[in-house]
Amino acid sequence: MPAARSLPHRHFDALIIGAGGAGLNAALRLAAANLRVAVVSKVFPTRSHTVAAQGGVNAALANALPDNWHWHMFDTVKGSDYLGDQDAIETMCREAIPTVYELEHAGVPFSRLDNGKIYQRAFGGQSQNFGGEQAARTCAAADRTGHAILHTLYQQNLRAKTHFFDEYFAVDLIRDDEGVAIGALVLDIESGEPLIIEAKTTLLATGGYGQVFRTNTNAFINTGDGMAMALRAGVPLQDMEFYQFHPTGVAGKGMLITEGARGEGGYLVNGEGERFMERYAPKARDLASRDMVSRSIVTEIREGRGCGPNKDYVLLKVDHLGADVVHHRLPGITDICRVFLGIDPAKEPIPVFPTAHYAMGGIPTDRHARVVAPARHGPEEVVPGLYAAGECACVSVHGANRLGGNSLLDILVFGRAAGTDILSYVAEHPNHRPMLDAHIEPAIARLARWERQGEGERVADVKAELRRLMEDHCGVFRDQPTMAEGVEKLKALRERVEGVRLRDHSQTFNTARIEALELDNLVDVGMATMMSALHRDESRGAHSRVDHPERDDERWMKHSLYLREDDRMDYKPVRTKPLTVESFPPKPRVY
Ligand SMILES: Cc1cc2nc3c(=O)[nH]c(=O)nc-3n(C[C@H](O)[C@H](O)[C@H](O)COP(=O)(O)OP(=O)(O)OC[C@H]3O[C@@H](n4cnc5c(N)ncnc54)[C@H](O)[C@@H]3O)c2cc1C
Repeated sequence: MPAARSLPHRHFDALIIGAGGAGLNAALRLAAANLRVAVVSKVFPTRSHTVAAQGGVNAALANALPDNWHWHMFDTVKGSDYLGDQDAIETMCREAIPTVYELEHAGVPFSRLDNGKIYQRAFGGQSQNFGGEQAARTCAAADRTGHAILHTLYQQNLRAKTHFFDEYFAVDLIRDDEGVAIGALVLDIESGEPLIIEAKTTLLATGGYGQVFRTNTNAFINTGDGMAMALRAGVPLQDMEFYQFHPTGVAGKGMLITEGARGEGGYLVNGEGERFMERYAPKARDLASRDMVSRSIVTEIREGRGCGPNKDYVLLKVDHLGADVVHHRLPGITDICRVFLGIDPAKEPIPVFPTAHYAMGGIPTDRHARVVAPARHGPEEVVPGLYAAGECACVSVHGANRLGGNSLLDILVFGRAAGTDILSYVAEHPNHRPMLDAHIEPAIARLARWERQGEGERVADVKAELRRLMEDHCGVFRDQPTMAEGVEKLKALRERVEGVRLRDHSQTFNTARIEALELDNLVDVGMATMMSALHRDESRGAHSRVDHPERDDERWMKHSLYLREDDRMDYKPVRTKPLTVESFPPKPRVY
């Protein structure tokens, strides 16, 4: 491994790690203002997971049914099981409307209503008038909304002359003695050459970590790298116990069947042919929030009312909607069903089971996307020069449970907010801070660790075990003994990672090295998840404790913070005060 001083350095005003919707929306704002912007992505930008988003993005445009941002805000606060920060939620719901129009003007080909306006479909947890009739708030480009958004943003960035480092892997952040983020060590995957990127500001936009669970909807690249980088830099992770299981993954395989399928009129049936959601959510039925629908499916199966020879899934019916609706409004899921199940959903029901999908938790930020961490003495402080946005961040707008269509919104609104704040930060701090070898060495050491030769366990084996462990000990339903055992097993597994060795030490396109670096990250975010879940002894949103089935607002209206040092837990209050409107106080959550 080369010495720190012999490495090549590049200099930028802003370094953005991640080329999904969050990273690209921030980059666009900065490049358009003529800043020197570097976007680093471990895959070609348009392969980021945002491309897979199906159903759409929420904004109270009121194109299909009456709506306004304040109702959207209410639904999001309620959907979060009152754990979301209401100032951030107000910001997001207000900004949603100009954000979608901005996308439209940038070229996103939204589907259209007959009157020419942007098509909006019904999604789970959406209501008119603070809990009244179903609303239709999700703006969609068929069921390929993420694809349309990501390609548009990428093309706009090319035009604005954003500098892309495609297929570069970010190894670690570099901070100076005062804790200011001054860049990152990255690896050119093609050549295996390390490179130092020095930057006045760094934005983490690395997306989620669904790969920590065996059955999930996520891309292989979603391994929590940015979250783990933050942990190693001494920043805690917030609300990691809240991991969303999407109710309708293809049974046994995990790929997503969008909530848009139910939004278009699809519904779930059990082995007895019964529309069981009527029993769990009499009003919203199949469009109750995701945590609720997932639990209902698992309960049906546990009580012996599943479908199929092993009674281990339920069926999602869209075959009554007609081939026209299914093939035109849901072409992506039609493809998934044909390729992975060999069925046409317009003719046959789809076997589904909950699948790991989305991280509500992540790197704590304020609503300007600035990373915040507990100060040594006193309340939390902004970490200078460091930003986080998108699924890797926790603003927190989703609290304990995210509503469908609110993540694309979150990544766009807070990606843009990061861009705006970075502009003023760079104006106030126009010079690069000195980078010394000592600042770089910890990151180099992390890379050098994988050069060790000799016999050892294989990355793939340890990773498979980790994924099974997380699924078995930290799934849809949780309890103390199972998770306590999970933490012990995870600690043992973390120690075993020390003994893992690479078989292949070559430089060119060595994906084994990348997977090894990702394994370190997965173990860290897995531990953050399990520890946070073990300590929260209540049920709220996606975190469902069989041994503590009730929500406990007295003790638990607070955010969890996991710190890597000594696997320590800390807590901070929920920001219940919005910016301009009245606060929504906690109520029982029924749909
Ligand atoms: C199948 C599916 C369907 C979905 N549908 C919807 C939907 O309809 N509506 C909705 O609101 N939400 C949906 N979501 C959720 C939403 O799409 C994601 O939360 C969101 O797109 C995440 O965007 P992001 O910008 O944070 O990260 P991503 O799009 O995941 O991008 C992460 C980026 O970080 C880069 N990266 C990561 N680690 C490194 C590293 N170490 N070095 C260099 N680069 C790195 C990657 O290369 C990538 O460019 C869906 C999610 C899935 C999985």
